[in-house]
Amino acid sequence: MGNTLVNMRDQRFILFEQLGIDNLFAAEKYADYTQEVIDMMLNEAEKMAVDVILPTYDVGDREGAVFADGKVTVPAIFHAALKKFNEAGWSCAPASPEVGGQNVPLCVWSACAELFDSANFAFMMYPGLTMGAAMLIAKYGTEEQKNTYMYKMFAGEWGGTMCLTEPGAGSDVGATRTIAKRLPDGTFSIEGTKSFISCGDSDIYPNIIHPVLARIEGDPPGTGGISIFIVPKFRANEDGSIGEPNDVATGGIEHKMGIKASSTATLNFGENGKCIGYLLGDERSGMKVMFNMMNEARLEVGMQGLGHATASLEHAVQYAKERIQSKHIMEMTIPNAKAVPIIHHPDIRRSLLWMKSHVEGMRAMNYFAGYCIDMEETVTDVAESAKWKGFVEILTPVIKAYCSDKACEICSLGMDVYGGYGYIQEYPMEQYLRDCKISTLYEGTNYIQALDLVGRKLGANKGMNLMNLFGLVDADIKKAKESEEMKAYAPHLEDAYNAAIGIAMQFAAWGKSASVMLPVMNARPFLMIMGDLLIGWQLFQGALIASGKLDAMYKEAGAEGSIAKKRALARANGDAAFYQGKIASAKYFACNVLPAIAGRCKCIMLGDKTPIEMLEDSFAG
Ligand SMILES: Cc1cc2nc3c(=O)[nH]c(=O)nc-3n(C[C@H](O)[C@H](O)[C@H](O)COP(=O)(O)OP(=O)(O)OC[C@H]3O[C@@H](n4cnc5c(N)ncnc54)[C@H](O)[C@@H]3O)c2cc1C
Repeated sequence: MGNTLVNMRDQRFILFEQLGIDNLFAAEKYADYTQEVIDMMLNEAEKMAVDVILPTYDVGDREGAVFADGKVTVPAIFHAALKKFNEAGWSCAPASPEVGGQNVPLCVWSACAELFDSANFAFMMYPGLTMGAAMLIAKYGTEEQKNTYMYKMFAGEWGGTMCLTEPGAGSDVGATRTIAKRLPDGTFSIEGTKSFISCGDSDIYPNIIHPVLARIEGDPPGTGGISIFIVPKFRANEDGSIGEPNDVATGGIEHKMGIKASSTATLNFGENGKCIGYLLGDERSGMKVMFNMMNEARLEVGMQGLGHATASLEHAVQYAKERIQSKHIMEMTIPNAKAVPIIHHPDIRRSLLWMKSHVEGMRAMNYFAGYCIDMEETVTDVAESAKWKGFVEILTPVIKAYCSDKACEICSLGMDVYGGYGYIQEYPMEQYLRDCKISTLYEGTNYIQALDLVGRKLGANKGMNLMNLFGLVDADIKKAKESEEMKAYAPHLEDAYNAAIGIAMQFAAWGKSASVMLPVMNARPFLMIMGDLLIGWQLFQGALIASGKLDAMYKEAGAEGSIAKKRALARANGDAAFYQGKIASAKYFACNVLPAIAGRCKCIMLGDKTPIEMLEDSFAG
């Protein structure tokens, strides 16, 4: 039996059978990789997730991060787990060998990250933010900055964060008030307060390197005037060792609903005028630089959603097979009929398939995004590379917002499958729901993602990025129409696809008219439509492959044309059961989710402006 976090058969299916990542190995960057190597890597990732990270999950929640005497401590078990994580080389696995990494393809890293995140995302925030901040220095840092900070961060010796938010600058990053004053030696004196900084302080790393957004004195207001600085908690001595404190004080940490062991700190920079910052990249290019980390972090938050959702699904399925309650509906009138495992009740089966289809679709979409980045970085043709990049740009806000929103629904439904026990702390379901919720809020709220999708991404490259992506969907609709197994379901995908195209065109028209508020107001429903459409497409793609594999298996077993024989084969053969499950996910999604898209698009098309036009005083009270 597998673990209770992630269906690793599905991971391998998406990587090897759906994406066909073998074609990546031809690139020099991935020349050391083979399917066997990746198989071994996934097994090692599973061991790390189950044996090392998972035991930190409920302990982290119970003990949490603690602030006392100006210092933050995290549970002792986190220290031991991080040491093992770093020693195994995971702290910089996707980075290049020059900095200690292994060039792990990002689609494969996505699969590893799903395992780690499903075991404990609050723990993973420490190494995750550290790697993200190190990547920034790798891309924009000077040789000196790389030598001083980056290698230690990639090795997991020093930690990293991302410092954007301030009490008055949340979604509106341009309102940043932190100031950088020029010093004669070319460094800057940093003064200001950053709030809600994840892993902003802790005793898990002896030094923490903060990439901080600040405005150089005299620079213009708004995002265009913001620069980014490396601000260490402790300055580094010339020999690389930890030197004197850098006037970064922790004001406190937040008491939160979930991810309690990830410290969320208020950081006061330069209370004594002695906080030194080192410019990273060019002056006034802070947002451009930080967006590198933000885009990665947005994909990572989508993965957080997936991680919680898959763990909730796997637990719910196992529980539903074990929990005995109520007679089967067909035996209700038989007085002495036995109670059955709840997985035999239709509503539980419907719930589990709703969860399963969404989890599998989100998994495929996340890995596809990783694959797009791998392709962007390895194909030699410039136009081809730009095409893959265009996919990533559209997918990033969709993955962040859709996967986090859906994950909350999945975790809630997972709790329902447990009944009252789901609400009780002895079972993990209530923690999944609590831990999951933050993913809709941070890294830019889901509305901010929707605004990014509608305001920036739809029309980018004259709409070609969207059209190229839709071209892939269209090609699979055509394939589905040719498939015996899926042709009856293809019209649902096609109708959803046409309805979504209609909205994209309507948004473009409204954008040029007096109704410009309508796309802005409907951005979030549209993003969710895009998410449903894209994961529906991914599920169809998977079902078409599974159907081809199953046909060959049925033929070999002489089971063609006999439902009973096909079911018997699936009971005896795990692969056959898995492929049947892939087809079931796509069919369920086609019949129960995709048809609603046309109706949701119709709602948007009505152009209702009531929320905009009504008085503020009419909302409540
Ligand atoms: C646990 C936790 C960890 C965090 N970690 C970090 C971190 O590591 N680094 C960091 O820099 N920040 C971090 N944050 C901050 C987080 O990114 C912000 O909370 C988030 O961006 C929203 O900002 P805000 O809370 O000020 O909400 P606001 O910006 O005040 O938004 C309130 C509401 O208004 C909406 N809204 C705002 N502007 C608009 C608009 N133009 N149009 C329509 N609606 C709008 C928002 O969508 C939201 O629904 C963290 C937050 C939490 C809670």
